[in-house]
Formats: sequence, C-alpha cells, structure tokens
Amino acid sequence: MKYSALKGVHDILPPDVYLWQKVESLAQGVFSVYGFQEIRLPIIESTDIFTRSIGETTDIVEKEMYTFPDRAGRSITLRPEGTASVVRAYVENHLHNLPSPQKFFYAGPMFRYERPQKGRFRQFYQIGIEAFGLESPEFDAEILSMLKVFLERAGVKGLNFEINSIGCEDCRPAFRKALTGFFSDKLNDLCPDCQVRYEHNPLRILDCKVERCIELRKGAPRVTDFLCDECRSHFESVLSSLRILDIPYEVNPTLVRGLDYYTRTTFEVTSEQLGSQKAVAAGGRYDRLVEEFGGPETPAIGFAMGMERLTTLLKESGGILIPSPDIFIATLGKRAVSEASVIAGELRAKGLWTEVGYDGSSLKSQLRKADRLASSYAFIIGDNEISTGKFKWKNLKDSSQGETDISGLGDFISSRFPDAVKPR
Ligand code: ATP
Ligand code: MG
Repeated sequence: MKYSALKGVHDILPPDVYLWQKVESLAQGVFSVYGFQEIRLPIIESTDIFTRSIGETTDIVEKEMYTFPDRAGRSITLRPEGTASVVRAYVENHLHNLPSPQKFFYAGPMFRYERPQKGRFRQFYQIGIEAFGLESPEFDAEILSMLKVFLERAGVKGLNFEINSIGCEDCRPAFRKALTGFFSDKLNDLCPDCQVRYEHNPLRILDCKVERCIELRKGAPRVTDFLCDECRSHFESVLSSLRILDIPYEVNPTLVRGLDYYTRTTFEVTSEQLGSQKAVAAGGRYDRLVEEFGGPETPAIGFAMGMERLTTLLKESGGILIPSPDIFIATLGKRAVSEASVIAGELRAKGLWTEVGYDGSSLKSQLRKADRLASSYAFIIGDNEISTGKFKWKNLKDSSQGETDISGLGDFISSRFPDAVKPR
C-alpha cells in the first residue's frame, strides 16, 4: 500500500525549509523593533469562535472550514485564520488589563477547504500580527510601513498596496441600503450564494469571485461615498500618513475583504511576481471584535501574510543558501572512532557542524561522502595518528592540506573558523 499526503497539503523539506526559517526569523526581527511579541495559540478552537467573528455568509464559514465533532460531540474547527483566536486569547487572558497597546505576532498553519492550485493550499502557513488599543490613523500607516519594510527586506519586488475604508456600524446601514437598491433588479442573475448574501450581508457580493457577479457589480455604489464624518476623516488621515511615510498606495473601493469583522481600514498587498494568486498579505481594522468576544471596547488592527506565496517569490528571486557541515572527521580503526567522537563533541561545543565517519568504510569512500555533504574540511584520524598525537586535515574548498597536533586543535579552529565560540 502506498501512502501520500492529503490533497492540498504539502511537506516542507530541506533545502526549502531554510527559506522558511529565514523568513520567520526576519519577521521576528522586524516586528520586534515595532514592539510586537510572539503569541502561540491552539490550532483547534470551538467552531463558534470562527462562525461568529468571520461571519455566517462568508466563503470561509460557508464552504472552507474543517469542522468536525470531537469524541464528546463538541463542534471543533481547525483554525482557518489567526485573528479570531488572538482576540479570543486577548479577552480570555485579560490582556486588556496590561498597558495599551498590546502587540502580537504569530506564525503557523491555517486550514481551508479550497480548490488546491498554485499559491492556494488546504493547509497553508501564515505569519500575522494583531495590535490592540490604538485607533489613530497614523498607527494604521505604521502597520503598513512595517509590512513594507519586512517584505522589502525579505526581497519581494513589485509591491502594490491597495487600501480602502469600509466604515463603521454608523455608516454601514446607508451603504447596505444603497447596495440592495443597486442589486434589486439584478437579483435573479446573481449566483445562488450572492442571492443569500443579498438578504444577509450584501457587502459580501462585492467580494464574490464568480465572473457573472463581478460583471453585475460594475457601477455599484462605492463604500467610500457613504462614510460618516469620523470614518471619512480617519481614512483621509490614514492616506496622508501613508504619503508622509512614502508608501505608494491605490484606493480600491471594492476591497471589502472576505471576513465580516473588519471596520474602517482594509488593505491588501499584491506582487506582480505572483501570477493569479497575487495577494501576499492582507488585513485591516476590527474595532468591534474585542467587544463581541466579551472584552472592553478596544480598537484593533492586523494583517496576515501567506508563507507559501512569500517563499515562492523568494525562491524565484534569490536562490537558497544551503548550510553544510564545517568538518567531517574520517576515521580509520576502532580507537580512532572513539577519539573522533570526543573531538566531534568539542567542535560542536564551539558551534561547528561536525559529522563523524562512523561506518568503517574506506578513507576514499569517507572523503567522497565529506565532499557530497559539501563539508568545508575533512579531518583524518587513524590509530596511527593517535599514536603520534597528530591528525591530518584537508580543506575541501581549496584542496589545501596539512598535519596538526591534536593538542593544537583549539588554535587550528580559531584560525580557520574565527566565528567559532571562543574557549572560556
Ligand atoms: P485570497 O484572496 O487569495 O483567497 P484571502 O482574502 O482569503 O486571500 P486572507 O484570509 O486575508 O486571504 O489571508 C491572508 C493571506 O494568506 C493571503 O493574502 C494569502 O497570501 C494567504 N492565503 C490565504 N488563503 C490561502 C491558501 N488557501 N493557500 C495559501 N495561502 C493562502
Ligand atoms: Mg480566500
């Protein structure tokens, strides 16, 4: 019987995994100087956490969630996104009692039952951030600026920032009315999902991916024409802050995002390098969500980036730096194997990646192996060398070679590997 991974799910193997690590550590480095701290959250949550926050009539909740009863019959969902869980944790752990703002980042797998294709998987990985307690438009711009700094330092090119404001509960009703008015004579031509959305959440029609609906919504009212004074001035200040920070943007009035919890600012970052699944990051404000989860009134904003799309871009643009052993110790004879394992321990304590030829094969075959591993050096230790207190070494990069006293190993290492940990 042959086994294979589930459809839309993939392994991340070396050497690709080095790119993933690079992206993760870069994210940690960039986000931490903006005051974001890592938060680690469960992958499974109670289903209602997502249905209530993301919204009943969204694609994610209607079609994409991995939901199942656990053994006690509770409805469990594999998280399709991070924000709902972060908000749940923020409220449950009373993090609103800590000094404001509270800023978090997370990284990990998300699950959506989607049609697998390039840049779209059923288990995919996101790095995301969420910030609680700041309403000021300058902060929205700072978040976008941080995202830009991160993506540029990661090496992503051709970035476009699309931005919109979808207002608040005060301006939403008038817009909703205008939308239902616009679609009322087109109702029968909309896709079946949008006919339901028309009743429950007409804003979602603007996010529908069906060709016919995209056609029918041409000329639809624009949400930015319905913003209340406060939302309008917030949006205008976000845009002027973006100009001050030199972040080129494009206002996209149909950018309502696929989740219901957003308020005011929404945004998406795309790269022309990506082809059809071109959104590399997306997010927005969700000023009501903490309250909906039972917490105090708390403005909040966040975004999430798709790791697969990011690493695809980097692979195409860069090439992966693959680490390899520093030293391969080839051994000849029983005593040499024990001596080599002691020396290997000392080298590893200095931070050097060391491999030992334990398999008792010929010197030639061990050196061939060292070469195949792209080791920088081979050390040769035989019973003979042990008697004379010396070892032979070979630099596999420039083919130089020589012999050194085993007692002088420390000096040899510090001259050849200046970055190795210095002995105390
Ligand atoms: P899309 O429009 O591409 O479906 P989305 O609006 O559903 O994206 P979000 O929920 O905002 O995406 O997630 C943020 C980012 O996560 C996306 O911009 C994308 O990079 C990534 N992402 C979302 N869904 C997937 C998926 N199924 N496979 C891989 N990456 C994904
Ligand atoms: Mg989607």
